[in-house]
Amino acid sequence: MIDSHCHLFYEEIFNDLDNKLNFAYSMGVTNFLTVGTDNKHMRQNIDIANKYSNIVCSIGIHPTEYNCGYDIEEMRKLPAQHNKIVAIGEVGLDYHYIDLAPKDKQLLLFEEMLQLAKDTNLPVILHCRECFNDDLFKLIKKYTNNAVFHCFTDTLDNAKKVIDEGFYLSLTGIVTFKNSGELREVAKYVPDDRLLIETDSPYLAPIPHRGKSNEPGFVRHVAECICEQRKCTLKHLSDITDENFYRLFPKAEIMLERK
Ligand SMILES: [Zn+2]
Repeated sequence: MIDSHCHLFYEEIFNDLDNKLNFAYSMGVTNFLTVGTDNKHMRQNIDIANKYSNIVCSIGIHPTEYNCGYDIEEMRKLPAQHNKIVAIGEVGLDYHYIDLAPKDKQLLLFEEMLQLAKDTNLPVILHCRECFNDDLFKLIKKYTNNAVFHCFTDTLDNAKKVIDEGFYLSLTGIVTFKNSGELREVAKYVPDDRLLIETDSPYLAPIPHRGKSNEPGFVRHVAECICEQRKCTLKHLSDITDENFYRLFPKAEIMLERK
């Protein structure tokens, strides 16, 4: 099983990384993608991936971090220098936080990141919140067809659009929350070949750890909840989500040992 989206550089995890990884192994979670969010943590995130054979990483600027002082030319060079960088992300639009990051700034940043993905020929990890419309899909498709909507929490209708447009959809611990009925419908709906699972650690801990700091081992709880919805075994879910992960992130297939 793979945690396809975590942030191992945040203190809550990084200060205790080896213990967190050992716990994950005990839960059957063997490989990890640690996802970039800003300029400040970019090098640290790459260093973590370079240090562990079972971790890959991405680089990208989160929509609310448009002001973090990144250097796009430097970012353009990084994937050629570090084979462990397998994706651009997380990037996108977050219209829940327009007071933090105005729409026009977010859009400029997003297009710059999509162009970076195109230039580096890497798939994209999307953070899209309260921004679903036809323009969103048109914008993404201008640059790439290889992308995952990370931490999907939108409606079943929009999940169908994500799939119809040819993208992947990834679920977090939110699917375990009591009031997430529609999201569990999404968990039932997504075809076998388009689903990914993730923790988004240290955020969004699933039940039975809700409210605590999240960690990659807890992706097992996300998986078990989805298995209940899909009436499938953990082994099956783990197999199909691993397969999807390696299809979406071809560089990860080269860099990671399958377990
Ligand atoms: Zn994230």
